[in-house]
Amino acid sequence: MAELNIEDEITRAKRGMMWVKLEESLDGAGCPVCNQVGRSEAHYLESMLYEYVLDAGVRKKLHHSHGFCTRHAATALEAEKKLNSDGLHLATMYDSVLDEGLRILKNQITALEELEKEKRRRRPEKQVHPAHASKCFVCEFAAEAEAGAVHGLLYFSRDRDFLKMYAASKATICFRHIEALVKERVGLELVSETVQKVEKLKVNLSEFIRKHDHQSAHDYREDELNSYVSAVRFFAGSCR
Ligand SMILES: [Zn+2]
Ligand SMILES: [Zn+2]
Repeated sequence: MAELNIEDEITRAKRGMMWVKLEESLDGAGCPVCNQVGRSEAHYLESMLYEYVLDAGVRKKLHHSHGFCTRHAATALEAEKKLNSDGLHLATMYDSVLDEGLRILKNQITALEELEKEKRRRRPEKQVHPAHASKCFVCEFAAEAEAGAVHGLLYFSRDRDFLKMYAASKATICFRHIEALVKERVGLELVSETVQKVEKLKVNLSEFIRKHDHQSAHDYREDELNSYVSAVRFFAGSCR
């Protein structure tokens, strides 16, 4: 009977959510951590647009940050499209964000007018304060999703099945996330596997450059043509 219980923790974990998310994140190119963050953000924004448009807490947060940051604004616009909406969710949310923005700008006009008058009267100058924007609340959510994804990779970093899956995939952990993993003393096999992927990228990039030579036949392979994109993405990731 005891044999039934010898299954270890990691084997059990392979039936859990963390493993499923990891598998999904290795589908296609890109960094598995960035991919997981991207999926979570998209999901978060879709359900937020669907359910919390009128939620006072959500609106307050959006006021404090004067709308979404650049990346999450793009995700929000994408989420609105996915909901097959004509834009009413975001319109409703931004209705009051616009009011607040206008209020700030109008106050600043008044303050600038005061400054002009004081200049003419040669009085010491007052200050006009620019609006302070707090961090976009989706960024805060993303930080948690990122920590969860890094934890998942750390957890499985020495597991053979995971390493095989990673090696066979087109995914490459981005430079910033490899650094985050190294800081947490990740299994070295995962770093080695990533180095092999980056070495291949380096060969493709060098070939891409070399074949530009006028003596070359310019017969670029697909992964050579894409090498510069992959190099840019390896360092940028897709979630910062
Ligand atoms: Zn990444
Ligand atoms: Zn953001």
